[in-house]
Amino acid sequence: MRIVLAASEVVPFAKTGGLADVAGALPLALEELNQEVIVVMPKYKTIQDSKFKIQRIKQDVSYSVIGNNIKVYFIEKDEYFNRDGLYGDKSGDYKDNLDRFSYYCKRTLELLKEINFKPDIIHCHDWQSCLIPVYLKTLYAKELFYKDTKAVLTIHNIGYQGLFPKEQFPRLGLDWSYFDMEMLEFYGKINLLKGGMVFCDIINTVSPTYSKEIQTKEFGFGLEGILSKRRKSLFGILNGVDYSIWNPEADKFIVRNYSANNIGDKYKNKEDLRKICNLPFKKEVPLFGIVSRLAEQKGFDILAEAIEKICKMNLQLVILGTGDLKYHVLLGNMVKRYPKVISLHLKFDDCLAHKIYAGSDIFLMPSKYEPCGLGQLISLRYATIPLAFKTGGLADTVTEDNGFMFDDYSKGDLIKTMGKAIKTFASAKKWNALMLKAMRYNFSWQESAQKYIKLYEKAKGR
Ligand code: ADP
Repeated sequence: MRIVLAASEVVPFAKTGGLADVAGALPLALEELNQEVIVVMPKYKTIQDSKFKIQRIKQDVSYSVIGNNIKVYFIEKDEYFNRDGLYGDKSGDYKDNLDRFSYYCKRTLELLKEINFKPDIIHCHDWQSCLIPVYLKTLYAKELFYKDTKAVLTIHNIGYQGLFPKEQFPRLGLDWSYFDMEMLEFYGKINLLKGGMVFCDIINTVSPTYSKEIQTKEFGFGLEGILSKRRKSLFGILNGVDYSIWNPEADKFIVRNYSANNIGDKYKNKEDLRKICNLPFKKEVPLFGIVSRLAEQKGFDILAEAIEKICKMNLQLVILGTGDLKYHVLLGNMVKRYPKVISLHLKFDDCLAHKIYAGSDIFLMPSKYEPCGLGQLISLRYATIPLAFKTGGLADTVTEDNGFMFDDYSKGDLIKTMGKAIKTFASAKKWNALMLKAMRYNFSWQESAQKYIKLYEKAKGR
């Protein structure tokens, strides 16, 4: 099959979260399964030509190669993409995001014609590429070139929908009749994710449990109605992990590589992490790690409520992330009061993330909702035991067998479960067995990519 993957961020070129991990790894797995794949993304300021051996094919289009021969095309337009951020800056989202991403979608559809890549499937991801299915069924509906092209949309987080004021609608180049409750309108605003969901051939999310959850009022963020209507076209395929990047045996960012055969060496990484974090050496104290956006969705509301008590427990905690200012301030204050217990790193730092996955004993992921979650999957491979709230992809991947779960979303249950983990950690024998078990779990992309191919086949049949 000929597949185009359209995503606004792709590892290794640009990343703000799990979407980039998926968009970087899925094409590689599809190529392994003999599919013909290309990727199209915007060319941001941070994507440097020299670093990625980028070659120019047009005044406004260049490409780099990943895997054996997967071309990743970059759409250039300085006015829109030559900025420090991907979607916004300190003062919030860029005001012209509708122009930026509608341009990206239109230019992608034109580019495919120019390079004569007639796709069976365009696989779109999140709101940024949602105008592709919309345009395919409207402005491009009569184009022979796209006669047999189907659109698959993967929703990575239904909480982010791409909402814009009604007044901007004419900029999309669509007739006003599409500004309708059954299409792109959402309570008087333009909703790009909704548009994608209505016009694509198949909707997918990143875990089976989340695909069910988003059909309910509690998790649907107002789009549960549309999803229920389209439930026969709604699927959930779990994300995988790119083990060529996340592998403690070969990880170049960590001080000591290790595997199940020399798992004792993991502790060299714990020592290193504590040193970097200025946390004192304390025998038999578990080190909890967090790598996350600092947002309520990720459980920071209950974590904030519980933090005082947590700091008095027999543990140490390393947090890496950026997000809501209120959590920056609150956690910053806790560090001042408990410098021997908490270490806080308010930044995006890939190297430190690797060190935390390797050096922590327990990976904390108390997300209120979690479409899939990659942190828990990565941490399992590093024998860092996940502790998570039972929701979405966490419920599909963390069990009593490989980690610790709590099912009442409250500070009380979080603290209780952390206590249980600390107690288990005190038994070296039990902990060792748990680590070995965790490492054996396999969430590679191979199986998920096979499921995606089946999904593409299904879309082709529509
Ligand atoms: P999200 O909802 O943010 O996409 P995921 O768990 O799906 O959450 O994926 C998050 C990805 O981003 C993981 O690869 C995680 O390691 C990485 N990540 C998150 N915050 C940071 C950070 N501050 N520094 C480095 N990597 C980060």
